[in-house]
Amino acid sequence: MKAELLYEGKAKKVYRSSTDSEKLVLSYKNDATAFNGKKKESFPGKGRLNNLISSLIFPYLHERGIKSHFMKRLNETEQLVMETTIIPMEVVVRNLATGSITKRLGLREKTPFSPPLVELFYKNDDLDDPLINDDHALLLTDVIHKELREIKAQALEINTVLTEFFQSINLKLVDFKLEFGRLPNGDIVLSDEISPDTCRLWDLKTNEKMDKDVFRQGTGDLITVYEQILQRLERRV
Ligand code: 5GP
Repeated sequence: MKAELLYEGKAKKVYRSSTDSEKLVLSYKNDATAFNGKKKESFPGKGRLNNLISSLIFPYLHERGIKSHFMKRLNETEQLVMETTIIPMEVVVRNLATGSITKRLGLREKTPFSPPLVELFYKNDDLDDPLINDDHALLLTDVIHKELREIKAQALEINTVLTEFFQSINLKLVDFKLEFGRLPNGDIVLSDEISPDTCRLWDLKTNEKMDKDVFRQGTGDLITVYEQILQRLERRV
């Protein structure tokens, strides 16, 4: 189903669909990167796991009224999505303090955020994805005020839905990163992926880290924990 390669990112390749020029094929890679590409390793099977996991989460969100670019899983490592122009902004939602915010603001690890915190980052490798405010987002992207408000509200809605979803498989959704894209008709929809690469997931009982932090911090085997996430999801769905 793939025609021309449009883009290769750190974790995925993006092809135009050969059967429908308005659709894209996302091909998940086995590469893992951290610290803006400074740490890099390939994990055979990772692309398959993230594709399968993401392909279970997007339909679940659809059922709960959250539109996204996702159309269907094509095979073990690829999915079909609607073509969007990605907005160069990462939307992070945090339920507990960990990761960059603890260093940036000196917050104690595991400080709860109630209500959850929404942060925006400018998606720019050369600048190491800096934290930005709403005014910067309006300056640096083509989103308008109303759209930004809607994006942030939707990110919080996704947090509510996914927190409950992950809780049902004994996982705590600590924080996650979303990306949004603009469809040819101008609408903005959730895009990219939702997987243990983009979410922090801790075991509800043991607080064991079951996400990309095991690679970032070198504390465990990435494939083992991603397989456990998939198994729990498959039992749930
Ligand atoms: P932090 O800002 O603490 O590094 O990350 C917050 C959350 O967003 C974590 O769940 C992390 O996985 C996700 N995140 C932030 N930036 C990126 C990124 O560039 N790539 C990926 N895969 N996840 C990110």
